[in-house]
Amino acid sequence: MRNHPLVGVPSGPIAPVRVPKAYRRLLDLAYNLWWTWDPLAYDLWARIDPRRWAESRNPLSVLPTIEPDTWEALEASTTFAELYGEVLNRFDAYMGATDTWFDRNHPGFPGPIAYLCTEFGTHHTLPFYSGGLGVLAGDHLKAASDLGLPLMGVGIFYRRGYFRQAVDPDGHQQHTYTPVETTRRPMRQLLDPSTGRPIQVSVEFPDREVHARLWRIDVGRVPLVLLDTDVPDNDPADRPIGELLYVRGREMRFCQEMILGIGGTRAIKALDVDPAVWHVNEGHAAMGLLERLSNEIGAGKSLDDAKGDVASNTLFTLHTPVPAGNERFDYDLAHRYLSGSLPGITDDVLRDVSRAREGDDAFDLGAIAIRMSSITNGVSQRHGDVVKNEWAHLLEGKGVAVTNGVHSPTWVGRNMARLFQKTLGEEWVDKLVQPEAWKAIHDVKDKVLWDTHIAQKEIMNRQLRARLRIQASRHGRSPRYLRWIDDQLPAERLTIGFARRFATYKRAALLFSDPGRFRSLVTNPDRPVQVVFAGKAHPADREGQALIRWVQEMSNSPDLAGHIFFIEGYDMALGHALVSGCDVWLNNPRPPAEASGTSGMKAASNGALNLSVLDGWWVEGYDGDNGWGFSEHSHSDAEDAGILYHLLESQVVPEYYDRDDDGIPQAWVKRMKDAIATVTPNFSMARTVADYTEMAYAPLAKGETPDE
Ligand SMILES: *Cc1c(COP(=O)(O)O)cnc(C)c1O
Repeated sequence: MRNHPLVGVPSGPIAPVRVPKAYRRLLDLAYNLWWTWDPLAYDLWARIDPRRWAESRNPLSVLPTIEPDTWEALEASTTFAELYGEVLNRFDAYMGATDTWFDRNHPGFPGPIAYLCTEFGTHHTLPFYSGGLGVLAGDHLKAASDLGLPLMGVGIFYRRGYFRQAVDPDGHQQHTYTPVETTRRPMRQLLDPSTGRPIQVSVEFPDREVHARLWRIDVGRVPLVLLDTDVPDNDPADRPIGELLYVRGREMRFCQEMILGIGGTRAIKALDVDPAVWHVNEGHAAMGLLERLSNEIGAGKSLDDAKGDVASNTLFTLHTPVPAGNERFDYDLAHRYLSGSLPGITDDVLRDVSRAREGDDAFDLGAIAIRMSSITNGVSQRHGDVVKNEWAHLLEGKGVAVTNGVHSPTWVGRNMARLFQKTLGEEWVDKLVQPEAWKAIHDVKDKVLWDTHIAQKEIMNRQLRARLRIQASRHGRSPRYLRWIDDQLPAERLTIGFARRFATYKRAALLFSDPGRFRSLVTNPDRPVQVVFAGKAHPADREGQALIRWVQEMSNSPDLAGHIFFIEGYDMALGHALVSGCDVWLNNPRPPAEASGTSGMKAASNGALNLSVLDGWWVEGYDGDNGWGFSEHSHSDAEDAGILYHLLESQVVPEYYDRDDDGIPQAWVKRMKDAIATVTPNFSMARTVADYTEMAYAPLAKGETPDE
C-alpha cells in the first residue's frame, strides 16, 4: 500500500541475525514474502548455505546459523555479490514501481481496500491456513501486490496455527500444534510511532475487555495485519482466543470471530487507514459489519441510512456451496456476547440482520454479510448460480460470480517458469492478464515441454521418497522396506495426484469403489499407474479421518504395494511439489458441493491434466481438450466411480502410454499445451483480482452501487 502507509511502524527485525554490512539488505528481503515468488531471490537464499537452506527453506531460520567463514567466503565471491545486487535491484524496482496495472487502469482511486479473512496461506512456514480458502486469500494478496492495488489484508495471528498432520502406521491422523516461533518468521509487531509501544485494540466482552496487538507480514507491496490476543493485558483465560485456527469449541470460535471482525475493523482505524472499499472474504469476518453499523448509528445516522452506508462500499465473497455450510451460532450466545460491545444495535436489529430467513433463529454470519454488502459473489460461475438460488430471498437477483484463480508465480515450478519465460518473455507474469499471448505455448516443441514436465516430476518424486522414508522409519518399518522406497515412484510411470482436504464430499476413496477393477487398472505391468494421496481431515471430522485410514490401508496392502502412497503433512510446500510434478490431477467431489476448487488450476498451469468432475471452476475451465471432465450432475458414488474407471481405462492410461519413436506421448502433450494455454491466464489470480477490481472495487469506491 505504498500510497497509504500504515501509521504503525514495524518493530524492526527480531531474528537474532548478524549479517555483514555488505549484505545488510538480506534482512529486507527476508522480511518480505516477495522472495517466495521471485526465482532469482529464491536462488540467492539457496546460494548462502545450500545444506541449511534445504533443511528449512526459511531465510530467518538459515541466517542466524551462518558461520563467520561462510560470510567471509560470500564477501569474497563476486558471483554472489552480483546476484545479491541483481536481486535487490529487482526488489527495489518491484516495491517502487509506479506504472503498475492498477496505476495505468485506475488512476486517482480514492483509498485503500481492506480485505478481511479468517485464514491466510502465504507460505508454508506461516501456518495460518487450513486449505483452499486460506491459500486463495494469500494468493489474492500476492496478485494484488503484483498488479499494484492499494490493498491490505486483516486476519488473526494464530499462535499455534492449524495442526501439523502425521499419520500412524494404520493411518490414524495425529495432530500437533506447534507454537509459531515469531523470531524465525517474517512478521513484526506494529508499534505506535509516538510512544514506541505496541499498538493495541480492544473489544468489549461480557464483564471485561479483550485486547489484541497487531503484527505485520509484508506480502510484496501489500501488508497483512494479524491480531494477536496472547498479550499481557488480557486475562489468562482470554489469551488463547487466537490460539488455534478453526478452533472446535463453538463459544471459543465465536470469541475469535468477534476479534477478527470487530477487532479487525478497529485495528484498521487504529492504523489510521480509512478504506474506500471493504472486502469481507467469507462470513467469519462479518461481525466487522456490525461494528461499522454501530459506528454509523453512533454518529447519529438512522438505522436504514447506517445500513445503506455500510453496504455501499462493501463486497462479500461467499465460498460455501449451501447455507448449511455457513458459520452459524446459537442466537443467545451471540446476543450475550455482543450486547455490550456494539452500542446502538438493539436485540431486534441483531435478530433481524442475522437470521438466514424468516423463522430461522440462528445467528448466521453469511446472512449478516449478504444483508450488509451491496455486492455478494460466488467463486465460480456455477457457484454463483447456486448462491443466487439459495439466497434469492436476500439477494433479490443481485448475486454475481467472480471465478477464483491462483497466484501463478507461487505455484508454477521452476522449470516450467523458465519455459514460460523463454516462450512469453522475461516478464511472463505481466502476460497473465493477456490470455491471447498464451497461444504461444502451442509453438513449443513437444519434446521440450515433455522434458520440462519430466524434470519437475523427478524433483517431486525425490521429495516424495524422502518424505516416505521419514514416515516409514517413524512407523518402525524395516531397513529392507526403507530401501524399497528408493525404487518407488519411477518417473516413467503414470502418476495421479489427489491432494485436498479430506472432507467427505471430496470422496477421496472413490477410486477404491470397485477394488478388483482398481487393482487391475493400476497394476497392469504394461501400463502401471501410481496414485499419490495427501490431505488433512479436520480434527473433529471422524468420517474424513476414516477415509485417510482407508487410503493408508490400501497403500499397505501387498497387492497394491508401490501403486498407492499416502504422504502425511499436506501443506503449501507439499502441495507445490505435487501440483508441479503429477501427470494427472484427480478431483471427484460430489457435485455441486465444490464451490470452485483451486488445486487443479495450479496443476494445469504446470502441464498436469485435470481428470475432474464437472463442478466448480472446471465447468468453465474444461474445453473438451485440456483434460477430462465427467459427472456434471450428481449420480450415485458407484455410478461416478464407473464413469471414472471407464475414462481411465479407455482414454487416460492408453493415451499416456501411446509414445512416438522419441518416447513422447504426442496426443498427451497436445492436451498439456491446451491446459497451460487456457488455464494459466484464465485462472490466474491476476485475472481474478482484475475482475474484482472492475466488477466491485472500482464501482464501490466511486459510490456506484450495482443496480442490476
Ligand atoms: C490449493 C490448495 C488447496 C485448495 O485445493 P482444492 O482444489 O480447493 O481442494 C488446499 N490446500 C493447499 C495446501 C493448497 O495449496
